[in-house]
Amino acid sequence: MITITQRLAQTQDRIKLAALKFQREPSTVQLLAVSKTKPSSDIILAYQAGQRAFGENYVQEGVEKITALSQHCPDITWHFIGPLQSNKTKEIAQHFDWMHTLSREKIANRLNEQRPNDKAPLNVCIQVNISGEDSKSGLLIEQVDSLADFIQQCPNLKLRGLMAIPSHQDNSDKLRNELITLTQKYQELRAKFSDIDTLSVGMSQDLELAIEHGSTMVRIGSAIFGARN
Ligand SMILES: *Cc1c(COP(=O)(O)O)cnc(C)c1O
Repeated sequence: MITITQRLAQTQDRIKLAALKFQREPSTVQLLAVSKTKPSSDIILAYQAGQRAFGENYVQEGVEKITALSQHCPDITWHFIGPLQSNKTKEIAQHFDWMHTLSREKIANRLNEQRPNDKAPLNVCIQVNISGEDSKSGLLIEQVDSLADFIQQCPNLKLRGLMAIPSHQDNSDKLRNELITLTQKYQELRAKFSDIDTLSVGMSQDLELAIEHGSTMVRIGSAIFGARN
């Protein structure tokens, strides 16, 4: 059976090959290991193989793992990447290092107020709904600037960039156009604000396409930890 260590190495190879194919320096693409639904023992295996950034989707599950692993794996950077209800902001502000799915001023405000003073500012990405479908979470691209301006006024938040979950559709021209629009907005933000260095896009199935379009952080779950139930 193929192990998590081997899968992690294969994923790193995929990232490296894709970066080189598109004339990018491989170190400009960070790997976020998405451990949702997987036990802490799986995280420890990836940690022992050198992985340090982990992503979780559910607040309760994430906080339990963060607490359980704080001794074993002290230098993990924890990223919250799931949809967030406003009554759960406090746990995010207290326990996570990053939050990728910010799309409302109200949530930004709460995270800013609830971030403990002894912690570094919470790193945030604005989630963009690049397909524009009503069913998707995130902001429309034309609404990004206003939330970005708002976050600049929050001393306990640090805006790092944009995050998107492309729709898995067969129409690859449409998807490419969406990614091009996303990258343009990311470059605009980079020109406008300091600290912007993260385009969080790409999952197990489409990491090559995401790297082609400038992703700086791919969020990889099943390719590392195996299929989820
Ligand atoms: C689950 C999840 C991932 C990882 O997906 P895989 O297809 O397993 O790589 C990445 N991003 C988000 C937002 C997710 O919910």
